[in-house]
Order: sequence, then C-alpha cells, then structure tokens
Amino acid sequence: MSKFEAKSGAKTGVNPEGLDPQDWDAFRAEAHKMLDLAIDQMIEARDRPWQVVPDDLAERFEIGQGGDVVARINADVLPNHGGNIHPRYWGWVQGTGLASDLIASMAAVAVNANCGGRHHGANEMERVVIDWTRQKMGMPAGASGVFTTGTSQATVIAFQAARVRADTTVRAKGQQARLTAYAGAGVHNATKKGLEVLGVGHENLRLVPLVEGQMDAAALRAMIAEDRAAGATPFLVVGTAGSVDLGLFDDLEALADVAAEEDLWLHVDGAFGAWTRIAEAPWRGLTDGIGRADSIALDFHKWMYVSYDCGLCLIADEGAHRAAFAARPAYLEGAARGLAGGEPWFCDYGIDLSRGNRAIKVWTALEMFGEAAFSQAISDNCRLAAQMGALVTATPKMALARPVVSNVCVFTARADLAPAAQSDLNAQIAQDMQEDGTAVFSTTRVDGILMLRAAIANHRTRAGDVEAAIAAVAVRAEAFGAGS
Ligand SMILES: *Cc1c(COP(=O)(O)O)cnc(C)c1O
Repeated sequence: MSKFEAKSGAKTGVNPEGLDPQDWDAFRAEAHKMLDLAIDQMIEARDRPWQVVPDDLAERFEIGQGGDVVARINADVLPNHGGNIHPRYWGWVQGTGLASDLIASMAAVAVNANCGGRHHGANEMERVVIDWTRQKMGMPAGASGVFTTGTSQATVIAFQAARVRADTTVRAKGQQARLTAYAGAGVHNATKKGLEVLGVGHENLRLVPLVEGQMDAAALRAMIAEDRAAGATPFLVVGTAGSVDLGLFDDLEALADVAAEEDLWLHVDGAFGAWTRIAEAPWRGLTDGIGRADSIALDFHKWMYVSYDCGLCLIADEGAHRAAFAARPAYLEGAARGLAGGEPWFCDYGIDLSRGNRAIKVWTALEMFGEAAFSQAISDNCRLAAQMGALVTATPKMALARPVVSNVCVFTARADLAPAAQSDLNAQIAQDMQEDGTAVFSTTRVDGILMLRAAIANHRTRAGDVEAAIAAVAVRAEAFGAGS
C-alpha cells in the first residue's frame, strides 16, 4: 500500500479526494524529498556514471507494489540513467540536462498546458522562444516554427511543407509526382526516414558525394538535371550543419545558391550544429548562410543542453508552413475571445494536436543562465574536441579519422594494426570503458574501420576529463595483444 492510497475511505475503497492526495502535507514532504534527490543527482553527477542495468530491474518496476514510491525511485530509477548526465559522456550526440529543467518541469506540470492551441500563457511563451531562435539563426521576420520531440519529427514537418509546395494537391490526392531529394553522403538517417514516412521513398534521395567534407555543388546540379531529364520532380535539398558521424558542415551559402537557381526547398539538418550560430569564431562561421534556408530542424536537447525532449522546426515562409498542416474541424473552431481565441494555434503547424510545453525548458534556462553562458559552453565543447584531437595526434599509434571541425572527434586507438584488429580493439575499448565508468565513447565506421567517437555536447566536461579519457584509451591500446 502506498502512502497516498485511500485510508479514510477504506470502507468503500474510495478516496474522497479522488486522484488527489488525501494528505497534502505528507505529499509536500515527499515531493520536497524528491526534489532534493534530483538536485543531489546533478551535484553528484561526476560520481554517478552509467552502470550496467541490473537483471531484476523490470521486476522491481512491476506495477502494484506501491510502498514508498520516492524511496523506490531513489533506489531504482535515479541510478539507472542513460549516462549522459556524467562529465565524461560523449557517446552519440546527447545533451547533459540542466538544473533549470527541474524548475521548468515543475512549473510545466503544475500548469499542465495543452499547447495545441487556445488562449493561454504557454503558447505565448513558445512563440517568444521560437522567435528568439529564429533571430539567432538569422531567418527573416515572419518565419514560423513549432516545438517538436526532436529533429526527427521536425524533419518530417519541414519535408511535408516542402512537398506540399512542390505538389500542391498532395494533401487531397496523395503524392502524384515522383519527387526527388538531395543530401550529402553523410546525412543523418532522420532524412531518409522522413522521406520514407511521407511516401517519397528513400530511393528518391540522391546522396551527393562530398568534397573536403562538404556536398559537391557541381555534382548536385548535375544530379538535379539528370533527374529532371528522366521525368522526376526535384523538390528538396538537405544541407547538414553538423554531421552525426564526423561533425562536418555543408557550405550552406553554396547550397542556398543552388536551391534558389533550381527553385528547390533548402532544408538544413542542424540538430546540434545549428548552435554554432551562437558560438565564438571560428566555429560560428560553420553555419554562415543557415538563415537563407527554407526550413531548419534543430534540437535543444543536444547542444543547448536542456532535458529531453525538445526540438524545433523553423520555416521561413509561414504561408507554406500553414499550407501543409492547417486544418480546423468544427470541434477546433477558434473564437474572437475566450479560451478558444489566441490565434494562431500550433496544431496548424505540425502533426500533433495535443502537445506539452517544451519551450519553458529553453526559456527558463536562458533566463537563468543567460545566452552568453550557452555561447561559452558550446565554444568550450569545440575547444575540448580540438584538445582531444591534439592528444590523439600526440599519442604514438593513435590517429584521427579526420581533422576535428567542431565538437566531434573520431579516432582509432592503434592505427598500426590491420583494419579488422583496429575495429575489434576500438569496440572492446568503448565497451570496457562504458562498463567500468571511465568514460563513454560511442563508435562509428570510417573508411571501413570501427572507430571511437566523441561528440561533446556536455557542459560538465573539463580539460582534465579529456586528458584522463585519452590516457585510459592509451593504456588499453598498449595492453592490446600484449597479454594474450
Ligand atoms: C540527433 C540527430 C538527428 C535526429 O534528431 P533527434 O532529436 O534525435 O530526433 C538528426 N540529425 C542529426 C545530425 C543528429 O545529430
């Protein structure tokens, strides 16, 4: 029996307060305890690396046990996190989370706003944060946006707007034209998936070769011409600002020129890399031209560090955005005043009707820490990736896959070994270091070799963490083959 189950109503089994706690004072004490535990988790993040998931965890989560729920959360939920709160977590591309999220989330839950529409404060806040982001990205005034779960969902929204512009009857009749899209060879799978979901089909995504890490604009033009000659309808160019494997950036000015000449929609996948817009030089220059895009998909939960989930789709032409999604059946009709006022409604800008207040996490973080702190953290992450790259280069037999461009560093622990042995060693090092709590690298394949990969979107990482992690890799690399 939990502390909050019906007691006085025991005869009938009915709590007279329904689903509210019967004893708010007891509830308040429990909630305060939870808040303290959550703050402790952040303060002590350095001592709490990822740990192997206990075998019996699912049993411990089984429904119907009640008891001291906060104590159970402390025992079973808090220790079994995904690792990304830790200062030496650089796997995949994951943000760390911020203390401000605790306050923002409490406020969001207390209000419990449904941000699909109607007239209330959360929508006003979302519009303000969208407009702040629009300005940072250099998109024109009048651009529109909508918060999403993340870049994957923002990508689907942007592609649908692009598709409706190219094939205006698509909402009524389904896709008639054979549409083709173009992206650099390192594009994230979210682009492929988005095209699959929309029924464009991933075979209609042309992967344009890279030259010095950027989409080859001449090859792009040639592919567009070839597809047009074959009867297809090119509609979309996807530029990458921060590739997931290597942290590379397309030349967005060049892509904007091609898109303008060819009358194609330019979308930028800026999931993490878009935030170089607020970094120091030279990293800021990586996203020059991003404001010329027709749409941008980006995340706050990666390189703006707020807690999951929190992404954004920005669209330069609000009319094109609404043309793709606006629909207001009778039960959603707006009104001149009252709760059904408050136009525009976010349900006209995306897939979701019911949606929570994600913008409050960004708003609270910016108001608490200030934009300059984010510029600093993002620039520091790039400096740390460069430091990691320099340490790799300075360590005998270790080698970078590619020069470090932004916050991503990919390397092999022993370039002197045959490719298959390198892959085995790198995989083993990644797993060992994850499991013993030293540091989290993920892996990727470059030139056929599985390599160690760090994507630093972590405001807790310090120079000493990078030094310690590379030293630990070096020890394991030297030991490889010696004792076996
Ligand atoms: C993470 C990522 C995505 C997908 O974003 P989600 O927020 O995980 O949906 C897309 N593109 C790039 C470059 C990414 O790093």
